[in-house]
Amino acid sequence: MISRPLRAAPLRLLALFVVLAIVPLCALGWLGHRVLQQDRALDEQRQREQLENAAALITRELDRGLAALEDKLPSAAAGQVVALPPNAVFILFRGDRVARHEGVPLPYYPRVAVSSPVSALLFSSAEASEFRRNDLTAAIAAYRELATSSTGSVRAEALMRLARCFRKERRTADALVAYDALAALGAATVGGSPAELVARRERVVLMRAAGDEVGAARERALLSDALSDGRFEVDRATYDFFQEIATSPESPANDLAGAVDAFSQTWLDQRSGRDTWTRGSRIFVSVWRTTPQGTAAITATIDGLMTGLREPLSNLRVTAQLDDRTGRTIWGSAGDRARITKTARETGLPWTLHVAAADVSASARIVDARRNLFLGGFLLIALVIAAAGYFVFLAVNRELGVARLQSDFVAAVSHEFRTPLTAMCHLTEMLEHGDATPSRLPDYYRALGKESRRLHTMVENLLDFGRMDSGRRTYDRCPMNAVELVERVVDEYADRSPGSANRIETSLPAEEGAIVTGDREALMLAVRNLLDNAMKYSPEDAPVRLSVSRRDGTVAVSVQDRGAGISRDERHAIFSKFTRGRAASALNVKGTGIGLTMADQIVKAHRGWLELESEPGQGSTFTIRLPVAS
Ligand code: ADP
Repeated sequence: MISRPLRAAPLRLLALFVVLAIVPLCALGWLGHRVLQQDRALDEQRQREQLENAAALITRELDRGLAALEDKLPSAAAGQVVALPPNAVFILFRGDRVARHEGVPLPYYPRVAVSSPVSALLFSSAEASEFRRNDLTAAIAAYRELATSSTGSVRAEALMRLARCFRKERRTADALVAYDALAALGAATVGGSPAELVARRERVVLMRAAGDEVGAARERALLSDALSDGRFEVDRATYDFFQEIATSPESPANDLAGAVDAFSQTWLDQRSGRDTWTRGSRIFVSVWRTTPQGTAAITATIDGLMTGLREPLSNLRVTAQLDDRTGRTIWGSAGDRARITKTARETGLPWTLHVAAADVSASARIVDARRNLFLGGFLLIALVIAAAGYFVFLAVNRELGVARLQSDFVAAVSHEFRTPLTAMCHLTEMLEHGDATPSRLPDYYRALGKESRRLHTMVENLLDFGRMDSGRRTYDRCPMNAVELVERVVDEYADRSPGSANRIETSLPAEEGAIVTGDREALMLAVRNLLDNAMKYSPEDAPVRLSVSRRDGTVAVSVQDRGAGISRDERHAIFSKFTRGRAASALNVKGTGIGLTMADQIVKAHRGWLELESEPGQGSTFTIRLPVAS
């Protein structure tokens, strides 16, 4: 039946196709998932390798910079002139005292060499006048005398004492002059400190006491200059002492001096090494080595080291960060993103190095783009598989339907053949055995003839169908009157089935306009099939009406019945070969499902068409529309 192949869709087949489609899709999905996972892992590994390479490059670059400084140590220690980077200082320690320094002059040094003090005996008689006898005049004279000494330190000590006497006598102007002379002695030591520093300090004190603020300020400026330009080798305590009054502004040299001060103990404790020290935003690095001449050390800011890093960092798209030994970040920033860390032990640098990708989102974007591409591809493949599965399912289902229809057809044809054959066998047996009464013999022969003609017609129909189906059917066309054609079909029917012929009503106008061109036998076959169906699918007493008319330039041959009718959903399908409709099963009518197919093909071969109007339960009207013969 029509509904069987379509509505009762073979669920098992459907399930099979769903499973067959789902299995590769799942496999594909799993594969895709694995590919994405591996891709991500590969990407991470690639990033890691990139970071490792960047870290190695940064380490190499920093190491190269420090090694270049270290290479200068032996020659600098040997007294050769070496090119130091800007803001760097070379210091040679002999024992634990600074023996020599190069580069930026520092405002103070750790552990400066102490100059030998002037013999106290030189001043004993003058000091006796000053302190014991309270004879300042004699003391002043004695000090003046000593102040002409050819030895700078003696002169300085004498001028110091001379000024002291003037101060005792409240001779400020003279004291200032004495200090001025003392200042002119510069580096000569007085009381262990450079004469100039001592003199300037005292002049500031005196001027302030005398209310000469302008002079005091000028003197302070001179003291500040003397302190900060590194003119004198003083230690930290001395520097701080004079700095109290001078308050010279913090200078880069001050920071460098701080760094040297901080490094100095390590230099003396360890034979060689590298170290870092930070003050505010200024980072210092120091390299040192014990040489035959003493401990040689270079201290410099890391700016010079870092300038070489900028380009590689931006080329490699990474950011770097340096932490000192306490874990404090002193340079750069690698953020909290995925990064790699190289400890000072691994790199041989005085810092812990962190390297991170500069733009993490860029690689995330690439991974996302690759994932989207893959998902797109997966969806496409899934769609293709689903569509292919669906179409294969439809095709297989259709083929199964056709196969089922064919087997139904074979069964139906066999059944159709059996009825006339059984009758013929029965009649032939009777005639063979001579059981028939002679008076009935003509009836038997007529029946035999009728059944063999029926069989013949059926075989011809099948052969015709075969030819039409394969497109081999040829048509002998000639003009004919459709009215006559219908009359012949009706006559033939009456001859075949005289019992039911009385149901047929005709409306055949005797006009000449119903002329068509076509193959008479084929067109009769088409009308006959429609008539047979109308008789089969309507009650035994219901009339069937055949009419011929002219409609819209065509000849219309209608076969109308008051039978079961045809529901809307099967009006198209019943024209397909082997397809039998609901009416066939409802009324238990035998058939092969090729009648309408043949009628439709014949009419189409005559450039016409077949119309169907039907009201389920009310009846159907099949109309053959053929072009009027020109
Ligand atoms: P068959 O009659 O051998 O089944 P057909 O091709 O002639 O094959 O008809 C196909 C189907 O169309 C029938 O099985 C029947 O269900 C339906 N049909 C055809 N003609 C009529 C009609 N006049 N009234 C109701 N149903 C019809």
